[in-house]
Amino acid sequence: MEQLLQSQQQYFHTGRTRDVQQRRQALQTLIDGIRRYELEIAEALRLDLGKSHTEAYATEIGIVLHEARLALKHVGKWTKARRVRTPLTHIGSKGYVIPEPYGSVLIIVPWNYPFQLAICPLIGAIAAGNTAVIKPSELAPHTSTLLKRLIQELFPPSFVTVVEGGIDTNEALLELPFNYIFFTGSTSVGRIVMQTAAKRLIPVTLELGGKSPCIVHHDADIELAARRIAFGKWTNAGQTCVAPDYIYVHRSQHDALLSRLQAIVQQFYGDAPLLSDNYPSIINDKHFTRLTSYMEGERIAYGGRHDRDSRRIEPTILTDITWESRVMQDEIFGPILPILPYEDLEEVIKAVTERPKPLALYLFSQEKAIRQQITERISFGGGCINDTLMHLATPYLPFGGVGESGMGRYHGQFSFSTFSHEKSLLVQSTWLDIPFRYPGTRHALKWLKRFMK
Ligand code: NAD
Repeated sequence: MEQLLQSQQQYFHTGRTRDVQQRRQALQTLIDGIRRYELEIAEALRLDLGKSHTEAYATEIGIVLHEARLALKHVGKWTKARRVRTPLTHIGSKGYVIPEPYGSVLIIVPWNYPFQLAICPLIGAIAAGNTAVIKPSELAPHTSTLLKRLIQELFPPSFVTVVEGGIDTNEALLELPFNYIFFTGSTSVGRIVMQTAAKRLIPVTLELGGKSPCIVHHDADIELAARRIAFGKWTNAGQTCVAPDYIYVHRSQHDALLSRLQAIVQQFYGDAPLLSDNYPSIINDKHFTRLTSYMEGERIAYGGRHDRDSRRIEPTILTDITWESRVMQDEIFGPILPILPYEDLEEVIKAVTERPKPLALYLFSQEKAIRQQITERISFGGGCINDTLMHLATPYLPFGGVGESGMGRYHGQFSFSTFSHEKSLLVQSTWLDIPFRYPGTRHALKWLKRFMK
């Protein structure tokens, strides 16, 4: 691994990754490769997570193609040095902000969107002119192997490479002097990554998780809310970092929402979701056991059936839930949806703000004042009004967490900025040399006070 990093650093120092035409070419190579491999990518995602081709395309393949095309189109503009103003004290000089690549970056990937979460950061890393090592998740082995094959075919390992393996591999990689670490995964491993990176002061982006609330106010369009919540919760069987973790619904709409959610799940997945081709499975037995244990002793208002052989759990709704219930202690990360009623929005604001800041927040309400109240008073990574998940699918919005849900952001131009150091440069004039800064200048203080107030 040390040799691998050395070869990447050597490659970086040849300057090839910085050349804008080379960056464009690499992005085009990536796009062509993904298009060529589409069926194999979809098959790997089916084998790892039981995703349908449509879901795989919407949430993993299409989304990265869109990102890559955007980067390809704009990379020339993004890389240009930006001229900035200079203050009066700097008269005669010019200021520039010059984006420069960090060097060799390490991208650590989780299992839930094992293709998208490897390629999306890679697009930013390439556009910004870096080399990259990708460490996929060992829990999605088919996608991990496929990523290795795809990247090997497209790029020399000294530019981009995939290192497969588990925790040991990751630990070994984290000990190396990479120039940037981009980590997506759990908050607990995020802490380990940051601690290790701190030893060498390696900058990090941490894309983590947490419990993302979904608030349904009494003035919400319940039919639409139910459809969009069902989409957000049961895409990838709830194994989505920004899935609505739980619902806070105004008591007056509790029963209506519950009944609409049930009808919509039937529309989406039929009477037997466990057999539906459109409904993914749980990643492994450990998570299956963890998730089914959340149902024990709780009131299951809908769903609840599960099959250990296919590792599928029906879309399941739990009611009569409180913050003391087991399901409310950690991020659920599965198809179980607890519903909590509220009377007053203040209760919701209090409950959410006294816990770690969530990665996402969703609010269903028609009223502007309510939207303002929630978005101003609750801190969260990003979210939607009257929708779920869709904020992450636009490259024009930064995507990332805050507090325990992460630090840093990416997508679109934000990815380029994440993987670039903004070098500042002041180009001084030689025809003018204002004397106040030099010791011994007469009336220096008087002049300084005039310019610097
Ligand atoms: P994870 O933290 O267990 O694993 C992520 C990566 O870290 C994997 O590549 C794994 O090999 C490695 N790893 C695991 N344990 C490690 C250790 N002790 N030391 C070093 N490396 C280790 O996360 P996961 O289970 O793969 O993914 C689920 C979590 O990721 C959820 O919390 C979810 O919310 C979060 N997530 C966040 C985003 C986001 O964009 N913010 C996206 C997807 C998932």
